[in-house]
Amino acid sequence: MTEESYSSRNPPPSNRDLLILLGMFVTFVVGVIWIVGLLVNGLIGLIPPEVEQKLGSVIVPTFEKQAKSSPTQDTLNQLLDRLEQQLPPEQLANRNYRVLYVPESTVNALAVPGDAVIIYQGLLAKMESENELMMVLGHELGHFANRDHLRGLGRTLVLRMAIAYFVGDSGGLQAAIVNAAQVVGSARFSQSQETEADEFGLALLHGTYGQVAGATDFFAKLAKEKGQNLAILSTHPAPKSRVKKLKRAIEKRNYKVGEKTPLPSNLEV
Ligand SMILES: [Zn+2]
Repeated sequence: MTEESYSSRNPPPSNRDLLILLGMFVTFVVGVIWIVGLLVNGLIGLIPPEVEQKLGSVIVPTFEKQAKSSPTQDTLNQLLDRLEQQLPPEQLANRNYRVLYVPESTVNALAVPGDAVIIYQGLLAKMESENELMMVLGHELGHFANRDHLRGLGRTLVLRMAIAYFVGDSGGLQAAIVNAAQVVGSARFSQSQETEADEFGLALLHGTYGQVAGATDFFAKLAKEKGQNLAILSTHPAPKSRVKKLKRAIEKRNYKVGEKTPLPSNLEV
């Protein structure tokens, strides 16, 4: 066998081995990331609220600085209190849910570790009835109940920390922790997490009013504004499918759709 025929039949073994090694390495890294994700997901359900609040004590102050205590914020908290009355006692234990109202034009609402629901002025400005707003607040309470806010934070933060650790970048590690508030803001939940939060909110809405008028209003509005660059659209699934799913849930549960309650006057911004 000449050297020429050898090389034409298959590539030199050294290159091939290298490729196999590279493939194994990539598979290994992807596998580790996947397993870390699974572990974080599994462990998050076990994190007690006290630990969550400690985490919150790092994250919430960033939002507290942006928020202003105002009649608007007080009224939002009264609305949240009414929804909370519909929660089972075990979901209220060791919890201190509150709304922080941030006067910025961002159209978004967030559930932040530390029991804080962040409502931006831009979102409030889109609300046309109390029911519509209650649905959004109920949705955020659903994220707490399912601990989605920790899941989003967990995986992103864990990955960033892992990368910083492997690169040996202690400054990056610190930054990953400090930037937790930012991570919370851009956390993206899965379609099924959002559906569950929507259905949770729907049940709270029904418990509060005995009917579910306004449940789909906000999402229907978002569907019309899809072309616009709204923060809530970048972190939430297609609003059209949310409306469809909610309508299906309303039908399935035999919920009535009655009259809407007007927005309290100091929430009209
Ligand atoms: Zn959500």
